[in-house]
Amino acid sequence: MRVLVVGAGPAGCTAAVALARRGADVVLVEAEDAVRPAGPGLVLQGAPMRALDSLELLDACLERAYPHEEIDLCDAAGTVRTVLAPPPLLPGRPASVALSRAALGEVLAGAVTAAGIELRLGTTVTAVVDRPDRVDVRLSGGAVEGVDVVVGADGLHSATRGLVLPGAPSPRPTGQVIWRAPAPRPPAVTRYSMLDGGPALGRAGVVPVSADSLYVWLLEPDHGAPRPPAGREAEAFRERLRPFGGDVPRAAEGVADVDVRSLQSLLVPLPWSRGRGVLVGDAVHTATPHLAYGVGMAIEDAVVLADVLADVPSQDVPAALRRFGERRFDRCRLVVETSVQLGEWERRSPADPSLPGRLMGEALAELARPA
Ligand SMILES: Cc1cc2nc3c(=O)[nH]c(=O)nc-3n(C[C@H](O)[C@H](O)[C@H](O)COP(=O)(O)OP(=O)(O)OC[C@H]3O[C@@H](n4cnc5c(N)ncnc54)[C@H](O)[C@@H]3O)c2cc1C
Repeated sequence: MRVLVVGAGPAGCTAAVALARRGADVVLVEAEDAVRPAGPGLVLQGAPMRALDSLELLDACLERAYPHEEIDLCDAAGTVRTVLAPPPLLPGRPASVALSRAALGEVLAGAVTAAGIELRLGTTVTAVVDRPDRVDVRLSGGAVEGVDVVVGADGLHSATRGLVLPGAPSPRPTGQVIWRAPAPRPPAVTRYSMLDGGPALGRAGVVPVSADSLYVWLLEPDHGAPRPPAGREAEAFRERLRPFGGDVPRAAEGVADVDVRSLQSLLVPLPWSRGRGVLVGDAVHTATPHLAYGVGMAIEDAVVLADVLADVPSQDVPAALRRFGERRFDRCRLVVETSVQLGEWERRSPADPSLPGRLMGEALAELARPA
């Protein structure tokens, strides 16, 4: 089977590796001139750790990651109110870990190289023509690749989405802004803490990602305020973090390379495929980071896609791709809808303050079940 994967983010790299391991001949195209993950860091929970383990990539991630057995849920002053302690899904492994996006990218790009996958940088897709026995994919530069499957893994603003599923909905803003920045880890900051400042201040987090680094985030309502001027982002971020206590002041001192963006979400209704074209990852389901499961779902998609395509004769590919969407939809919908609801409750507190914790707990328990 020949497969062309569009986008070398977590979904695309993992899909390329999982398919190549099952014997497919894979070409991976990436619009950028390097595999360069954006953003400071991310959390991987039990389910994506299990998926990475199935590809024997987990240990390389753990070597570069900071383990988090517990998360401290605090008030704005930093007083711990609840400790989240999800059970580990894999014996002898942490319940969750945090690592820099660059570290995850390094592991996945290394696996792409090791699998002998052809990676074409600075390349995108301009047309997809589905035929009974193959799909012809026109690449920027003019080359046309005839393959058995084209996988759109090109993220939130996917160009492949419009080519494979014309008329699919576009991402929508969810009414919140997130500030994120890496910083050196002061030795005293050893735990993942989230501080709730209510709708007025927003919610802040401090996440160690390695022995010497962490990242700080702040989620707040999007009032359409202008972004800080270039060069003043770190100062503006520190100013917003000033009301928070706990580990925030220590961590905030070192913030640099601040990223500020409006959150968006997307859930494309089924089908996620047309003929021999299929979409995975953020291209079909983009969640806000409230459950920290976006990369997790992207990685799981990749493993499930390789599973449904294993040993499938070429003429049965369209049916297998439909099965992929059907197998993944409810789980991805749970992540998207729960995340959006949690964000909604951060903007307008629910009448029953126990609701967010309960909804999050139920979603995480469901996601712990096999994909
Ligand atoms: C603020 C924030 C915090 C988050 N925190 C977490 C977290 O802690 N844990 C977690 O699991 N998830 C988290 N997520 C979600 C996570 O970042 C995404 O779900 C994940 O990156 C999706 O992976 P992907 O491979 O589908 O898309 P992407 O990561 O967007 O990768 C897409 C790739 O395709 C390339 N590309 C784009 N267009 C084209 C094109 N036309 N042709 C070729 N290549 C193209 C891009 O350059 C990129 O390499 C967070 C998201 C946000 C916004």
